[in-house]
Amino acid sequence: MSALSETPYPYEAPVSQALFDRASVVTPGGVNSPVRAFRAVGGTPRFMVSGRGPYLTDADGREYVDLVCSWGPMILGHAHPEVIAAVQDAVARGTSFGTPGEGEVALAEEIVARVEPVEQVRLVSSGTEATMSAIRLARGFTGRSKVIKFAGCYHGHVDALLAAAGSGVATFALPDTPGVTGAQASDTIVLPYNDLEAVQEAFHRHPGEIACVITEASPGNMGVVPPAPGFNQGLRDACHKNGALYISDEVMTGFRTSRAGWYGVDGVKPDLMTFGKVMGGGFPAAAFGGRADIMAYLAPAGPVYQAGTLSGNPVATAAGIAQLRLLDEAAYDKVDAVSAQIRSLVTEALSKEGVAHRLQNASNMFSVFFTDRQVRNYEDAKRQESYRFTAFFHSLLSNGVYLPPSSFESWFVSTAHDEQAVQKIADALPAAARAAAEATA
Ligand code: PLP
Repeated sequence: MSALSETPYPYEAPVSQALFDRASVVTPGGVNSPVRAFRAVGGTPRFMVSGRGPYLTDADGREYVDLVCSWGPMILGHAHPEVIAAVQDAVARGTSFGTPGEGEVALAEEIVARVEPVEQVRLVSSGTEATMSAIRLARGFTGRSKVIKFAGCYHGHVDALLAAAGSGVATFALPDTPGVTGAQASDTIVLPYNDLEAVQEAFHRHPGEIACVITEASPGNMGVVPPAPGFNQGLRDACHKNGALYISDEVMTGFRTSRAGWYGVDGVKPDLMTFGKVMGGGFPAAAFGGRADIMAYLAPAGPVYQAGTLSGNPVATAAGIAQLRLLDEAAYDKVDAVSAQIRSLVTEALSKEGVAHRLQNASNMFSVFFTDRQVRNYEDAKRQESYRFTAFFHSLLSNGVYLPPSSFESWFVSTAHDEQAVQKIADALPAAARAAAEATA
């Protein structure tokens, strides 16, 4: 056994372990995105070889009900036949031209038609690119430099936005990351989430300096922590009173929490919005958009530079259009219903074992906090008993249910999560709840 194989968890996945050992030689930490490495929960990350509907199959041939859905994008489940057909058709016609193409126009039209505040949109390849570009545009448009963000909100690995970020940064408890210079972070003001007074106070302290407030439309990167009633509206009002832009990051919530994302839920109109995940149908496609007068500042129409070799890629846009066109009201009703069903199964199992927990949701996104207190911000989220999550996670994994490997992440479901998949979760939950109850710090 190699040193890389040493883990306190039993080897239930020898082929994945061998792949992880190989990967760890050629890739830092063995993965291409940190949370995939299972560091928060320990054990062997499962290397997946295929996905079908609500299921994933790993390299050892074990099947799991997938509650990660590629961290959100796979809202129709894996390998949806119509999405696959659209991709095959696009691939056969060539994979990248570096010219404009009709697919980009159609995807932009679909986004503009669904999300009323978006008058114009620019396609990019990742959520990180979308938020980075939106911030640059906000600074270019306002001529100001400072940005307000909230602790526990993750907006991708943009240098200036990694301060007190959620997701992997929360999982690994990195307050800041080396490599982000003081200068890059010095224009970022980090405030507690759901605290409008802190926002007003920051505007008061920095008159004429704040370009924008960026917030997750409804945060899912410190676990699911929805905005308190009136919080997003308060942000918008504070921005407009002080000449700043309100940027709603809908990379996670966009086209998932409703047809029009979180905007479709709370109706608070942002100046700029960012999208990713669902809109790419499992391919690298993301976007930022909003008011036409602001978007007009973007090159080549305006002076703020932004570009991308693979932006609007024809295969990615074909997948995105196919997925979005299948997402009608009936599809959202289905995802919402299966989410509610799983939430009540989780609550029932944990309550039966007397495990203190809060199950929080934002439309069909949800997560469990092992605490009896309401979680309103990142400080609350960090106070949970994460060791219970570890035991819960491993019990579910060994019984064929794949959760996000961190208690600071949202769980995701799809239209493909049918009765059979829900039954598998129901069957696995009692043992997982017992493991959570018996866990010790
Ligand atoms: N913004 C939010 C709200 C996200 O959840 C994420 C990723 O999880 C990002 C931005 C970054 O997106 P990407 O991972 O595609 O760069």
